[in-house]
Amino acid sequence: MQMQATKNWSEFRPGEIIKHFTQEPPVDVVSLAEALGLRVWEKSLPNISGMVTPDQLNGGRSGYSIYVNAEDPLNRRRFTIAHEIAHYLLHRKRMPEFKDDRMYRSPGLSDDVEAEANRLAADILMPRRIIRKLLDQGVDDPRIMASRLMVSPDAMEIRLGLRSRFNTKAPRRF
Ligand SMILES: [Zn+2]
Repeated sequence: MQMQATKNWSEFRPGEIIKHFTQEPPVDVVSLAEALGLRVWEKSLPNISGMVTPDQLNGGRSGYSIYVNAEDPLNRRRFTIAHEIAHYLLHRKRMPEFKDDRMYRSPGLSDDVEAEANRLAADILMPRRIIRKLLDQGVDDPRIMASRLMVSPDAMEIRLGLRSRFNTKAPRRF
């Protein structure tokens, strides 16, 4: 059996790499990014959650780096890294770099494309196989699941279908 440290990830497809890193909670999203050829940096980024950008100097094997807002709490930084991984995997042919504001909106990208990045980020951080595993172990409290997966309780509840992505209020009656 090959040891993880000696794995040459450049020989693996992204889907295989994601599967490898999404077996047990919490998902090691930084190691996943690195295996995909991305280097992750923390930086002071006013009004920006994170970005993924070509980075010849400091980038990983792919030539890209992810920069994440160093002032954000850990769970939010983890979501940002997963969201930027998604832009790299799904959208990098569309434009050279992605710079997400506090609402995860990047200039020039539609809401649909951002939603696609959010969906892959959720698949990475809250994989269905781990959710099933937790449920099998009797862990069904969304707050405990969130802490085991190191995601925000809000993200967990959306993932479990307990609430919608947006706070939809009942239509107002006139
Ligand atoms: Zn984005």
